[in-house]
Amino acid sequence: MKFGTKAIHAGILPDVSSGAIMTPIFQTSTYVQDAPGIHKGYEYGRTQNPTRTVLQNNLAALENAQFGVCFASGLAATDAVMRKLVPGDEVIAGNDLYGGTYRLFVRVFQKYGIRFHFTDMGNPQAILPLLNDKTRMVWLETPTNPMLGIIDIAAVAQICKAHDIMLCVDNTFASPYLQNPIDLGADAVVHSVTKYLGGHSDVIMGAVLTNNEAFHQHLTFHQNAVGAVPAPMDCFLVLRGVKTLHLRMEQHCKNAAIIANFLQQHPAVAKVNYPGFTTHPNHEVAKKQMRGFGGMVSFSLKKDTMEAAVAVLSNTHLFSLAESLGGVESLIGHPATMTHASIPLEERKKTGVLDSLLRLSVGIEDAEDLMADLQQALDRVK
Ligand SMILES: *Cc1c(COP(=O)(O)O)cnc(C)c1O
Repeated sequence: MKFGTKAIHAGILPDVSSGAIMTPIFQTSTYVQDAPGIHKGYEYGRTQNPTRTVLQNNLAALENAQFGVCFASGLAATDAVMRKLVPGDEVIAGNDLYGGTYRLFVRVFQKYGIRFHFTDMGNPQAILPLLNDKTRMVWLETPTNPMLGIIDIAAVAQICKAHDIMLCVDNTFASPYLQNPIDLGADAVVHSVTKYLGGHSDVIMGAVLTNNEAFHQHLTFHQNAVGAVPAPMDCFLVLRGVKTLHLRMEQHCKNAAIIANFLQQHPAVAKVNYPGFTTHPNHEVAKKQMRGFGGMVSFSLKKDTMEAAVAVLSNTHLFSLAESLGGVESLIGHPATMTHASIPLEERKKTGVLDSLLRLSVGIEDAEDLMADLQQALDRVK
């Protein structure tokens, strides 16, 4: 089955009790048993829910995985993955990570004796000097946030396989429509379903997809034992969102390419970060491992000040100032004061998060309107 067909049909069958073509919202906390232990596979709402089961199977299919497990948020999904580790274990992670993932690693798991090394994986060889006999996991995000760097997943997977280390990829920015890390050698894929999979900025959810049966058992055990489960209504909303993922991603990609090129030629703009440019340092890797360059673009201004950035983001009307990404509507963010506010100035500038850096989640509106909106806002920068 090809992607669009899978998005609409994989794991989804008409409801057996009624024939309803859309998966019902099983809004129930418990299930009646015929006799103690004699039931239809469903005992208690934290442990299993039929709406959730359908979504988990659907998302697994999109990542070419056998198993899917959903959680109450992307961070809850990451938390469940990390619980595989024990004190003394070490993790090598990318240095341009989602801020919440960095916080979870450093402020939660480090307390329990797990050690993290952060490095720029733009060159996969950067992992080698950090490897030792305690290394258990490599964690990466690509494209990276907010610099839109690209990491060669297959090259990292090769290093991980040679050293018997688990590779986890946060595939939120690309979505399964553009990139399938498991096909490139990753052991597990994590999604903030909140973003492109949900697609409509109305749900917080996470998922982990894998082909490793033992790891899947670890995940389902923790899903039940820890209890960070998504609500049935949210599972329904994501099932509805996923049905148009392929169409939305096509439009996100088209619009982002138009916006990136538009920004590139605007006199107020200094640098545009977009993996679709042939001048992007890892453009060839992006071309090899992705089916499109995604809907995210970031850029800095020639006048590198907070004031200049604020002049732009307070004057856009279609690009709303907000955290998050991946919805149908366009958003603009200021990493220096929003997602990356907790990172010291010197560190921030080292990775390129300048005072004037702006991040766009390009929506699926008409590109002409989006360009006009940015044009009039950029013209305010004096
Ligand atoms: C938003 C996001 C997360 C966290 O997901 P939540 O659903 O907000 O918990 C993790 N990784 C990336 C890349 C994200 O953008």
